[in-house]
This record gives sequence, structure tokens and C-alpha cells, in this order.
Amino acid sequence: MPKVEINYRTCTKTGQCYYLHSEAFRRRADDHPEPTAAAFPSDQREALDEAADLCPTESITIVDD
Ligand code: SF4
Repeated sequence: MPKVEINYRTCTKTGQCYYLHSEAFRRRADDHPEPTAAAFPSDQREALDEAADLCPTESITIVDD
């Protein structure tokens, strides 16, 4: 099952991930994103990959467990 890793050192809080893929990302109180689950169903892999591709700072990595 795919997992989402976010690099908080490079994330600039642009919000594309949680605005465009709210099923997988939510905004924390400090405006950084966080995954909505520890792991996701395999059929969401394509959406997760798209979110990673859209991130302007390449701060999202999708890893397979
Ligand atoms: S799209 Fe990338 S830079 Fe923007 S909030 Fe999400 S992880 Fe951070």
C-alpha cells in the first residue's frame, strides 16, 4: 500500500496538494500539509503520483510499503 512522505524542509506551503487532492492531504494549523492516512489503497496510487508531480518544490514522495 502506498504511503506519502512530505519533506517539510522544502515544502513552501503552496497548498496544491491539499486543494487538489483533499482525499489524500489536509492542511495542518501551521499550513503545512499532512497525509490523511498512514497508507492508501493501491487504486489511489495514480492520484498520489499526480499530487507528487504537481508539487512545485518536489516535496512529496510516494513510497510502496
Ligand atoms: S504542493 Fe508541495 S510545496 Fe505545496 S503545500 Fe503541498 S507539499 Fe508543500
